[in-house]
Amino acid sequence: MYIVSDFSFRRDLSILKTPNFSKQLLKWYSKNARSHPWKKIKNPYFIWLSEIILQQTRVEAGTPYYLKFIETYPTIQQLAKASQDEVYSLWKGLGYYSRARNLHHTAKTIVDKHNGQFPENYEAILALKGIGPYTAAAIASFAFDLPYPVMDGNVKRVIARYYGYTKDVMAAANKKELQLLLDQSFNKKQPALFNQAIMDFGATVCKPKSPNCQACPFSKTCLAFQQNEVKSIPLRISKIKRRDRYFHYLVIKDDKHILFKKRQDKDIWQHLYDFPSIEHDENKQLSLKVLKGFVKEYTHVSAKKADILVKGPKSQILSHQRIIARFYTIYQSDLKSIAKENDLDLVQLKNSSSFAVPKIIDWYLKDNSISLFS
Ligand code: SF4
Repeated sequence: MYIVSDFSFRRDLSILKTPNFSKQLLKWYSKNARSHPWKKIKNPYFIWLSEIILQQTRVEAGTPYYLKFIETYPTIQQLAKASQDEVYSLWKGLGYYSRARNLHHTAKTIVDKHNGQFPENYEAILALKGIGPYTAAAIASFAFDLPYPVMDGNVKRVIARYYGYTKDVMAAANKKELQLLLDQSFNKKQPALFNQAIMDFGATVCKPKSPNCQACPFSKTCLAFQQNEVKSIPLRISKIKRRDRYFHYLVIKDDKHILFKKRQDKDIWQHLYDFPSIEHDENKQLSLKVLKGFVKEYTHVSAKKADILVKGPKSQILSHQRIIARFYTIYQSDLKSIAKENDLDLVQLKNSSSFAVPKIIDWYLKDNSISLFS
């Protein structure tokens, strides 16, 4: 029975010939399941690792990280015992380091407060740091066969298209309606299989662009396809507003070393490494006067214009901010005492790639373009 008829977006449902969504989906999955190393396992720790790694990361990019993590930390106790720098170092390249921070924090919580055992019910899983409704449903269903359907971007798209849901899928007000549509399609007897099937289906057939509707088992029953609305569904009206921030970095180095600063503030990139910086409210290079003062503050040297090399601007987009960075490099001979006086880390250039740094710093370290201050 279609609860969908209660909603204002209801279309002519008479075209729906095969209402058993779950049965058809599982039939498709029996022949088309993707094989991933975290599938067909029941270890909640491994499942949790894979889910956190795959947030905001494509499967192809995330798989080597998953394999590295389970090899380095085969148990949650080993992950809890590791230092944050070690975890960050393994995470390097994945970005969104708050995921790694929460992962480490939650491993310690499970060891300290749950006796090293992953909680076995949805509410207790959801209460863990860094775990939202999607990840809690994934762990609950995959590890413990609990009847919780997962709702991520892939699933929203499949459900919205199948039911011809024309409202904004990003709006919080429409969340309940989408959840009801998913709930009525869900297979409570085979929750793990259903969740894996709908995620694989969304990723390989009902793709965001160019879905393979001609080969789709739902082509006769999918409202978006039947009504020629595949391109316009799902409707996504993003409300995210990003603010621009302008960072000016002072890079102090010699031929073999560079000075890093570990970020401590309650700001972005907490506990990652970057350089001494000042923030400005305008998208332009610092004046020579300000820059000279900046250099003097750290080195006690009165720099000349010709001593300063400039790189950037380079931007990095975060969920709610856009960072625009400029780098001012100055060569100095006594890095050891500058590091000591300013609480900086003296790092050998050949080892700098093993430090957990934001993407924008990684770009600085790898990019060779540089110009004189002008
Ligand atoms: S017919 Fe097309 S739009 Fe509809 S579920 Fe299948 S792939 Fe998605």
